[in-house]
Amino acid sequence: MEKQEKSAAAQLKEKLFVNKSNGIKKLSADEVAKADEFSKGYVEFLNHAKVEREAVATSVKIAEANGFTPYDSTKQYKPGDRAYVVNRGKNILLTVFGKQKVDKGVRLAIAHIDSPRLDLKPNPLYEANDLALFKTHYYGGIKKYQWTAIPLALHGVVAFKDGSCKDVIIGENTDEPCFCVTDLLPHLAQQQVTKPMSKAFTGEDLNVLIGSRPFSNDDEAELVKLNILNILFEKYGIAEEDFLSAELTLVPAFQARDIGFDRSMIGAYGHDDKVCAYPALMAAVDAKTPEYTAVTLLVDKEETGSDGNTGMQSAFMEHFINELADAQGVKGYVALNNSKCLSADVNAAFDPTYASAYEANNSSYINNGVVITKYTGSGGKYGTSDASAEYMAEIRSMLQRENVLWQSGELGKVDGGGGGTIAKYVANLNVDVVDLGVPVLSMHAPMEIISKVDLYMAYRAFCAFFE
Ligand code: MN
Ligand code: MN
Repeated sequence: MEKQEKSAAAQLKEKLFVNKSNGIKKLSADEVAKADEFSKGYVEFLNHAKVEREAVATSVKIAEANGFTPYDSTKQYKPGDRAYVVNRGKNILLTVFGKQKVDKGVRLAIAHIDSPRLDLKPNPLYEANDLALFKTHYYGGIKKYQWTAIPLALHGVVAFKDGSCKDVIIGENTDEPCFCVTDLLPHLAQQQVTKPMSKAFTGEDLNVLIGSRPFSNDDEAELVKLNILNILFEKYGIAEEDFLSAELTLVPAFQARDIGFDRSMIGAYGHDDKVCAYPALMAAVDAKTPEYTAVTLLVDKEETGSDGNTGMQSAFMEHFINELADAQGVKGYVALNNSKCLSADVNAAFDPTYASAYEANNSSYINNGVVITKYTGSGGKYGTSDASAEYMAEIRSMLQRENVLWQSGELGKVDGGGGGTIAKYVANLNVDVVDLGVPVLSMHAPMEIISKVDLYMAYRAFCAFFE
């Protein structure tokens, strides 16, 4: 058959229209296989990184296995050298020294490693009607009903008065007990179901069931609570007052799983934002001798506004850049002025079941690659740094040059809500920054969903950025 000539209109369309690609169909089978392979390492990471301290500890292991050593401010580093710094067990910064001195700027990939969850209150343990429960204060933005009637595991650390600490992880293995927030049976929920969602489930309803047997048959009050404390004391040395100096949190007790008959997606707790943290970490691990010093920073507290000494608003990163600059005899502020950043965070993937929440032309889609988000914020672009036209041009040109599958996206409809990332705090340091990350379905739910191809494309993007 003779090959049909493209019409003039078709040719002009090809030249002028945005290529609303068919995403994954553009990829070779080989590239899809690479994505599947890369995702195995991610699943392993994710299962050992449910809370920020675990994410840091797991990252340190990966870093040390790949030639990173703790940063030493007295050492003279050469191009290609690798070092890492941990801040308070909750941030890790990895750097691969570039050929240029840092006053030419560094390349920053910054992701967060905290995820929404149920934190224990400082005085959490109580007994009611012969049941023992924990009071919680939720951390980050959650739809509260999603956290009822699912298995929860307890993670965190207890710090004792003598200065020692005890790590706690219980509920992940099937031979360990887990915990649960109870919900009202439908038979008696006639009133509850007529309430708006914000009233049907309140923060004070998120109480976690942790026990039901009394310590003894004695005629004493609070024997179920006593029994729980006795178990905690025997296992961890915890007395009731020790909860005051603890960071204990309840997270979904399930492991990451493949989703779909085609195993194309991963369902897990905490994709936001480990799905960007892991590829940013691996891009630093795989960087050889970059032109500019490459920095991957994994931060805490993003889900609650990036405040605090382990959040992005902390001076930790700025101090580190100053330290690098001092060691090279250049100025730290010049280094920042010339730096570029990918704020590695997720965006909401278009969900056909909730299509009305999205604006189809400006949404990101599963299997269409890494998503660039020019601005976040809400209500008339409030609370966003809004990447410059010039920087957007630079990044899309880089992605095209390196054949990274990419798309652009906005977070839902205008006035539909909104959200922010760490981008603005980096921009405030006079650094060029744009959000780039992975589209997520069911964001902030106990089980979030991502595509393996999109995860891999995030890794490819960070590698291209560091090159
Ligand atoms: Mn995030
Ligand atoms: Mn989030």
